Amino acid sequence: MALAGKIAAITASTKGIGLACVERFLNEGAVVYLSSRKQMAVNKEVDRLHEKFGPDKVFGTACHVGDEKQRKNLYDMIDNNHGKLDILVSNAANNNHFGSIFTCNKNQWSKIFDVNVTSTACLINEFLPLLEQSKLQGGNPNIICTSSITAVVKTEFIGPYAVSKAALTAMVRQMSPELAQKGIRINSVEPGVIKTDFAEVLHNPESPYNKILQQFDQKRAGESEEVANLVKFLASDEASFITGEAHRICGGSPGW
Ligand code: NAP
Repeated sequence: MALAGKIAAITASTKGIGLACVERFLNEGAVVYLSSRKQMAVNKEVDRLHEKFGPDKVFGTACHVGDEKQRKNLYDMIDNNHGKLDILVSNAANNNHFGSIFTCNKNQWSKIFDVNVTSTACLINEFLPLLEQSKLQGGNPNIICTSSITAVVKTEFIGPYAVSKAALTAMVRQMSPELAQKGIRINSVEPGVIKTDFAEVLHNPESPYNKILQQFDQKRAGESEEVANLVKFLASDEASFITGEAHRICGGSPGW
């Protein structure tokens, strides 16, 4: 099992890509902290996963990544239970605007950047002591951020979101050298269209916007589990020489 004994926290993980990562990590032997904005959604998934993996393997609490207090609650829960963190998957995103980039108002731009970039930076910064503790105890701590293929390709409908994901990818690159000095790796993944609620309008066969799938070599939407496979690899010790990089997972990217 690639993640045996490791302690992992995955944000935005009560459904979609985050939940697929939770299940993959648990199957690989990790202890996992899951979270999302809604406590009820967290409880539902924690209860379900307790049945399968046992109460000492899965923990969870509400954590809106834009809320400093809730980030602290999650931090304290991990600190009190395990005193360290080996893997942080920062997976939350906001996309409150669909259409021409020129119709996005200032509040929408602010919200998108707050969740996708600024709060991600805060989360990583605040969780560093737990990751450093992993290193002190002989672990190989690392961070994975869910970016998007839109960070590097043009898109017709989700321009502001794409700009924020480009910033996120750049942030991961910029954080890498300093984190490497602490023995912590950081990477981003850049999924294409994945079959989740978040991207329903892009992959639903009935949607007029699903023609976007034709831009990818495999001409299909991906499964959350396919992204989880990559995240699991990057989180594992097998990826020990990989840091500061963006990893596309989109069935063959359009363009370069
Ligand atoms: P999803 O299936 O809709 O799941 C979103 C999850 O995020 C839910 O658990 C939701 O639960 C939680 N969430 C939403 N806002 C949050 C916040 N501010 N703080 C904490 N949790 C929050 O979405 P997904 O497609 O898996 O998206 C996950 C990540 O993949 C995002 O970063 C997205 O940008 C990225 N991505 C997705 C695709 C795609 O095609 N699906 C492609 C590229 C990148 P609550 O409602 O309870 O908060």
